[in-house]
Amino acid sequence: MTSTFKTVAVIGAGTMGVGIAQVAASAGHTVLLFDINKQALEKAKISLNERLYRRVQQGKVGAQSTNELLARITLVYTLTELAPAQLVIEAVAEKLAVKQAIFGELERICLQDTLFASNTSSLSITAIASQLKYPERLAGLHFFNPAPVMKLVEVIHGRETTDAVIEQLKTLTLSWGKIPVICRSTPGFIVNRVARPFYAETLRALEEKIADPATLDSVLRDAGGFSMGPLQLTDLIGHDVNYAVTNSIFQASGYDPRFQTSFEQLELVQAGHLGRKTGCGFYHYGENKTLSSAKIAEKVILNNPLVVTARGDWQTFPEFAQLLRQNEILLEESKSDCLSIPTLLIDNVIVMLTNGELSSVLAQRLNQSVVQFDLSADYAQATIIAISCAMQNSHQDNQTVIAFFQSLNKDVIVLPDYPGLLTLRTVAMLCNEALDVVNKGIASPEDTDNAMRYGVNYPKGPLTWGKQIGWQNILNTLEQLTLFYADGRYRANPLLRQLAAGYLSLPNKELQ
Ligand code: NAD
Repeated sequence: MTSTFKTVAVIGAGTMGVGIAQVAASAGHTVLLFDINKQALEKAKISLNERLYRRVQQGKVGAQSTNELLARITLVYTLTELAPAQLVIEAVAEKLAVKQAIFGELERICLQDTLFASNTSSLSITAIASQLKYPERLAGLHFFNPAPVMKLVEVIHGRETTDAVIEQLKTLTLSWGKIPVICRSTPGFIVNRVARPFYAETLRALEEKIADPATLDSVLRDAGGFSMGPLQLTDLIGHDVNYAVTNSIFQASGYDPRFQTSFEQLELVQAGHLGRKTGCGFYHYGENKTLSSAKIAEKVILNNPLVVTARGDWQTFPEFAQLLRQNEILLEESKSDCLSIPTLLIDNVIVMLTNGELSSVLAQRLNQSVVQFDLSADYAQATIIAISCAMQNSHQDNQTVIAFFQSLNKDVIVLPDYPGLLTLRTVAMLCNEALDVVNKGIASPEDTDNAMRYGVNYPKGPLTWGKQIGWQNILNTLEQLTLFYADGRYRANPLLRQLAAGYLSLPNKELQ
């Protein structure tokens, strides 16, 4: 516990408030918990007791430390009783006027050096503080759900917040075992803003009938390395909530096509199919559950052994190179057939990581059969690989490549010819968005990566990942997508152009 904040007050005893109260109490603070609804407040304390004592029964925590933790949380029934707090964290309903009114009253109740924090996920910290006499003492402290489990806290700098307040909150949350990241108050802060393309690219692929939900999710999850597929995750978050977040960022950005909402998702919201909580979203839940699984290519048996040559600089894709070496495929140090990307020649078919172009366009230019495969965070661990085949390829060419990947113990998903496939286009867009955050001074590269790793469990920070893939490859992918769609959605961030041209580099120590 930091001595500066002996007593921490939490306003709102809902999902987030109770979790934050638990975090502060377990770090040794005296906690005052207030809710406008007396019944809700008392019920919340009872269910916290039950939850923590269950952990004692399971032998996960000691009885004495749990008793002490719970004894440190005092329920209070008026705002006036929060006067002794050195820090007040507000976690009430997401309404600007309500939050402004609470802090306005607190300014009359608390001492002038009491710090104020809001757990808002979408409102402007600057706007929440705007009615205060001392707006410099208010910041955002955005915890993730469940607060006792999730490591990330976004510490948000409103226009008037002083650096000293931000530093104190950073030190405090570090002492609570959290990973604080600092960002300026902008729509979606870091996580909710940078994550938009994760949902948007798969929703677009669904609208364009590239594959069914289970197959699309499997590409991002089992092949790409994300812990959940985007459609599965939006079913869990709730389509009303997920759609509203995208819509608010879309509006705040002046309807930038980067944040375009999805008609497919709007339809779910309008139908009341909000996901798990209503029993139906992209998938069915409960008793009427229909099993759905990804469409996997059938096992191919070849009569002749495969002839495989690997060309180009495979060091740029160390994990795929490792997979090749594990399967005793020799890596030649010769020039690649296509652009700067290393390739495999399997019989007479060029096989390469997608570069954002259609396989069919490449096949026409190279006058050869082409199969592209999708990006993975870890090719050795992935159970599936997603590929797309040029339309000019013979059936036998495609079967040969499927057999090759099956010989590496991968299941194969064959997607239609789709530029940037699914994981690469998603990661390129995540990277572009993360660079926008850095370019506009909203957060540092390190904090932006940490936010995505610990707030939404991405397998790699988007900037670390982008650097590994190569800024030029990310730029090529976005430029190909811009040509293909002729809309502004994929336009490259100016910082990406500078990184790709080699004029600039992101500080190495910041990226892991
Ligand atoms: P919730 O609905 O579970 O709880 C809100 C609580 O605030 C209720 O108990 C309600 O009685 C109380 N309340 C409402 N008005 C009040 C007032 N004027 N004074 C005192 N208490 C009042 O909400 P939640 O999900 O815990 O969200 C709270 C805040 O945290 C919101 O700003 C939300 O955007 C943010 N947030 C939510 C999540 C999440 O996953 N639920 C994650 C991060 C941030």
